[in-house]
Amino acid sequence: MRYLSTRGHAPDTPVSSGPGFTEILLGGLAPDGGLYLPVTYPQVGQAELAQWRTLSYADLAYAVLSRFIDDIPAADLQTLVNRTYTAKIYGNGRVSAEAGEITPLRWLARPDPPSGEGGLAILELSNGPTLAFKDMAMQLLGNLFEYVLARRGEEINILGATSGDTGSSAEYAMRGKRGVRVFMLSPHERMSAFQRAQMYSLQDANIYNIAVRGMFDNAQDIVKAVSNDLAFKTRYKIGAVNSINWARIAAQVVYYFKGYFAATGGVQGDNEQQVAFAVPSGNFGNICAGHIARMMGLPIGRLVLATNENDVLDEFFRTGVYRPRNTAETAATSSPSMDISKASNFERFIFDLVGRDPAVIRRLWSGIDAGRSFDLSATPYLARLPEFGFVSGRSTHADRLATIRRTYQQHGLLIDTHTADGLKVGSELRTPDMPMVVLETALPAKFEATMIEALGRKPERPAALEGIENLPQRVAVMDASVDAVKQFIERHAG
Ligand SMILES: *Cc1c(COP(=O)(O)O)cnc(C)c1O
Repeated sequence: MRYLSTRGHAPDTPVSSGPGFTEILLGGLAPDGGLYLPVTYPQVGQAELAQWRTLSYADLAYAVLSRFIDDIPAADLQTLVNRTYTAKIYGNGRVSAEAGEITPLRWLARPDPPSGEGGLAILELSNGPTLAFKDMAMQLLGNLFEYVLARRGEEINILGATSGDTGSSAEYAMRGKRGVRVFMLSPHERMSAFQRAQMYSLQDANIYNIAVRGMFDNAQDIVKAVSNDLAFKTRYKIGAVNSINWARIAAQVVYYFKGYFAATGGVQGDNEQQVAFAVPSGNFGNICAGHIARMMGLPIGRLVLATNENDVLDEFFRTGVYRPRNTAETAATSSPSMDISKASNFERFIFDLVGRDPAVIRRLWSGIDAGRSFDLSATPYLARLPEFGFVSGRSTHADRLATIRRTYQQHGLLIDTHTADGLKVGSELRTPDMPMVVLETALPAKFEATMIEALGRKPERPAALEGIENLPQRVAVMDASVDAVKQFIERHAG
């Protein structure tokens, strides 16, 4: 499989000779500023769906990913997915996780067509080490990075800034991996005690936590400044694992298939039945994978995009206007991992919506990159939206609390704030003709304060994480200075 850039010049060669999977694995944006996508979407027919239905998660991951990756030998790719998708890594001890199942499906209402009940379920994606769905892709990324770097005899220094979820997911994926060092900046004393403990208690020699005296934005500005220093970046082989990484999207496609099979009758199921997925969304990475699964031929009837108060994407799907917000317009909410001002993966979907015309993307994003918005309401593209199955809605703090309470009272199930946004919007938009599968994106233990506000009590924690705040911590505290961070990397980057 060859890859192209949404902006058309990456590099400026015929697409038939564009880069392969391992060539784009370690990079971020394409050289022209666009995002990578496969030249065509591999197609999956009824025969494959019937075969794939019975596969274990690891074997299904191999079946899906081998359609996107042809520059890693089959046996090696199989080994990498087998090593990644194990019950040990995705078994954080939650009672509902059935033996060996990586992403169990839990019905809140079973489908019952005679009574008009389409079915409502939650797909558990947070059984990985950091209790958020990002582990589903990031754990594979760790193994892919180690493999590709070893094959090339190279090393990489991953530099990132985090306010919580992404940084810890990256550290747990990269810990102990040969050829990889992680330098993760976080705002000093601004994360919860649990989040700090999750990251700073890692004792692996290749993980460096840097707490910067300042806010998240200061940390992010330092990462940008270091990455823009091309001489430094090349000399110290600086890389990133941000949400635009294609391998992360590809790995996420797998659980749409798994969730589809579980929601349509398991091993003996029906491959014609449509299913809707509701996805708590921020940077559009998770739901972009759903879009790709649908383009491959998986019968996804609807993709329901749920936002919190930061509703830039809901606004687009309702009106055709994409208007990224500025920092002052971006609210700090109780579903913080969805607090985005613009959605970094959105360009991938718009590329498909405009018929894969890179000239249109260049025109639209020259405005976006200059801080403007675009409006498709008067174009033929808006009318094409239903062809892609997207609908959207938004959820507020009050909705979140009410949904968490109701789900606990009616089902005895604790859900986190982000999953609550998905469940709120998914419940409103469900129909009797197909099950609605809500993607769970985190466990409530990560967001204790809001859970206490909703239910008056603390959520349980997986046993392995009890008392994590008392473990010794490893973190370097420094001023928000580009030079201080560069010197730290120079001292430790070998
Ligand atoms: C990252 C994240 C999201 C948003 O996912 P996107 O891929 O950015 O749309 C939602 N919920 C949680 C808990 C997350 O960590």
